[in-house]
Amino acid sequence: MTRPVRRQSLSVASECAPLAKSGGLADVVGALPKYLDDAGWHQRVLLPAYPGVLDAVAGGGQVGDVVWEDPWLFGGRGRVRAATYAGLDLLLLDAPHLFDRFGGLYGVNGRDYGDNDSRFAALSWAAAMIAMNGTSEGWRPDLLHAHDWQAGLAPAYVKFAGGSPPPVPTVMTIHNIAFQGVFGLDQGGWLRIPLHELNHASVEYNGLISTLKAGLVHADKVTTVSPTYARELTDPQFGFGLEGVIASRAADFSGIVNGVDTQVWDPAADPAVGTPFSATSMAGKAADRAALLAEFGLDADIEGPLAVVVTRLTWQKGVDLLLDAAHVLIERGGALVVLGAGDREYEDYLHELMWRHLGRVGIYIGYNEPLSHRMFAGGDVTLVPSRFEPCGLTQLYGLRYGTVPVVASTGGLADTVVHASPEALADGTATGVQFFPNNGDSLKWALGHTADLFADRPVWEKLRATAMASPVDWSGSARQYAALYDSLVPAAG
Ligand code: ADP
Repeated sequence: MTRPVRRQSLSVASECAPLAKSGGLADVVGALPKYLDDAGWHQRVLLPAYPGVLDAVAGGGQVGDVVWEDPWLFGGRGRVRAATYAGLDLLLLDAPHLFDRFGGLYGVNGRDYGDNDSRFAALSWAAAMIAMNGTSEGWRPDLLHAHDWQAGLAPAYVKFAGGSPPPVPTVMTIHNIAFQGVFGLDQGGWLRIPLHELNHASVEYNGLISTLKAGLVHADKVTTVSPTYARELTDPQFGFGLEGVIASRAADFSGIVNGVDTQVWDPAADPAVGTPFSATSMAGKAADRAALLAEFGLDADIEGPLAVVVTRLTWQKGVDLLLDAAHVLIERGGALVVLGAGDREYEDYLHELMWRHLGRVGIYIGYNEPLSHRMFAGGDVTLVPSRFEPCGLTQLYGLRYGTVPVVASTGGLADTVVHASPEALADGTATGVQFFPNNGDSLKWALGHTADLFADRPVWEKLRATAMASPVDWSGSARQYAALYDSLVPAAG
């Protein structure tokens, strides 16, 4: 049987798992290409060659030739190298003057780099040029897919190049509208934005430039990462000032929920997990639970639910609500372990919580991917108290690892977890607990409800089994992206 000819797409983003990750964006960008293949689309990913990326790729994959070059890319030479790694077909933007930094992806010690406008305009520029003109290997995509503010200028640059229709169709995905890529209007010339585009109908935003807005205005299609978040984004409470722009794109705007890379997140074959388990053989999970309690130095005889939280520590994620509510879990014999990195203020909250409940609350401040896997494996409950959540991935990992999600009813959390109402418990569809509104009192209610469910073993085991059977893998959503791409690039013949 001959394989159907796949059309070609270029995805551009500032993160791509497993090479560069600060949050869910990386997981999505790294997983989608693997699943699009079966839906008729090959996808190459363009990302910056941050320090260590070229070495990691050379160690575990292949770094190929320079396939695109700009001798003066926002202050220095920029080269794009073809590469393959972990099943991904990559284009790595090697521009040391922009990306060879000592700190994190976006800044150091909690402060953004002062030249993030240039850094990500360069990424967007390279994406737009490759999308329109191809690489020196003769590869040219049929479509450009840009993610978040870091790539927002890419669809805009394509549009600025003129042509009707534009030289290549573009899709812009919002992973979190709170991050908008806002820079001074006086940077417009440097950012290669034509003077006549520095207005409200284009990139201008409250007297500044927003690269996210640029993408939202100029992409042919706009998506976000869940249907509920898509609806929420037209509401000022969630739109962070861009709700009007979203409303103006209503005809081209949709929500496609994220999935899980089930090759990476598989409790039966996860190298980070001590004792593998699966829906049909759950014994290993008890061993992983005991190991997790020991790893955090908690009491070994926890009889209530062991809740895990894996999160960036920011206002969005609502970890401060735990200060008010966690005692409900502890009083019911449960325990809590939190893995997080981010704002100092939330680290302090967590330290306070740990001191209040020594032996019952464990915290790890920092970013630790293997530990996150062990937490989803060993926990009973995945807690996600976010104030808003475009999609959320940790509740999906919770479903996959039988670590029942307890989530605020917002965005993708509302779309992916079936609340354990009396009806859903009776008809066997419940997969977790949702609470609303997101405040300390309703979180307390949710923790109490969870403890009740946990205490009834047959009910809990059914809930857990239904959670593990949830269709969280990417194939359904990849088909939706492919259908969206198809609408812009109809198949030949
Ligand atoms: P966001 O993208 O807003 O941070 P998501 O839930 O969509 O939230 O994705 C977060 C991703 O980052 C998940 O894969 C989660 O496991 C991971 N993650 C977040 N914080 C940490 C941490 N401190 N250590 C390891 N992984 C983390």
